[in-house]
Amino acid sequence: MSGRELAKEVRAAVAARAAELTKNGRQPRLAVVTANDDGGSAAYIRSISAAAAREGIACDVARTTTATGITATLTSLADDPEVHGIILQTPLPEGASLAALATLIPVQKDVDGASPESIGRLVAGLPAFAPATAEAVLALLDHYGVELRGRHAVVVGRSVVVGKPAAHLLLDRHATVTICHSRTPDLAAITRQADILVAAAGRAGLIGPWHVSPGTTVIDVGTNATPEGGLAGDVDPAVTGVAAALTPVPGGVGPVTTALLLRHVVEAAAIAG
Ligand code: NAD
Repeated sequence: MSGRELAKEVRAAVAARAAELTKNGRQPRLAVVTANDDGGSAAYIRSISAAAAREGIACDVARTTTATGITATLTSLADDPEVHGIILQTPLPEGASLAALATLIPVQKDVDGASPESIGRLVAGLPAFAPATAEAVLALLDHYGVELRGRHAVVVGRSVVVGKPAAHLLLDRHATVTICHSRTPDLAAITRQADILVAAAGRAGLIGPWHVSPGTTVIDVGTNATPEGGLAGDVDPAVTGVAAALTPVPGGVGPVTTALLLRHVVEAAAIAG
């Protein structure tokens, strides 16, 4: 279940919408706020900036090193009418709280659904941008025509950025949802019951063939750096021998996440002012 074709479709629509908005004097603009230059984060920012540029979206990167700097930057971006979307990149400086800082991002500019208000609205069924990765999980399932209603979805991982919102989005689509995490005693006993398995634990190869049943559709969200400098998912590729379908890493959830994030930016620009 490659994500590349779906990402291409989404990006084409984004580019068309961005061109239209730009023609009308409102080029969509994303601001990325970062407080670190570590390899993974810097690579992610480069890839977002390049993807935005390809689709005609302006992307500014604001670098700062302290929680106070982040607060000042987010406050000024929140008030800037030229900026339509804001993402706050992790990891944050020691002692800084993502939840506290993300409250400074207005809901209408919170294109990666990071603020507690956006998450609350998502759970309450009110308009808000969902975290792009969680939305990408659902977009891939829809793209490949996987039925969700009444089926058992198991999500491994309970983070606020991926596991919890993915579980809520699945619940909204009438799946019966089980969330597993690091203290779940017998993971395989639960994952083997899944019709749909979402792996978002950040542990390379956590899900092996014995964790799935024939007929399980597996979405691998994990992106784990390999010693060789590549990327590995949370799912052992040997799972393809048992499961009905599996998303690859790289080339599965990742490209769809980026495309949806950019879609959120054009949507935010379209509803602004
Ligand atoms: P996180 O570390 O915040 O959360 C991991 C979750 O997995 C926790 O809830 C933890 O309880 C659970 N977990 C850890 N070990 C486990 C185990 N052995 N068994 C069961 N559960 C376990 O991570 P995150 O931010 O949610 O990210 C998860 C993964 O998704 C990471 O690999 C991350 O790089 C990747 N990710 C990918 C994208 C993308 O666009 N493809 C975007 C965001 C995150």
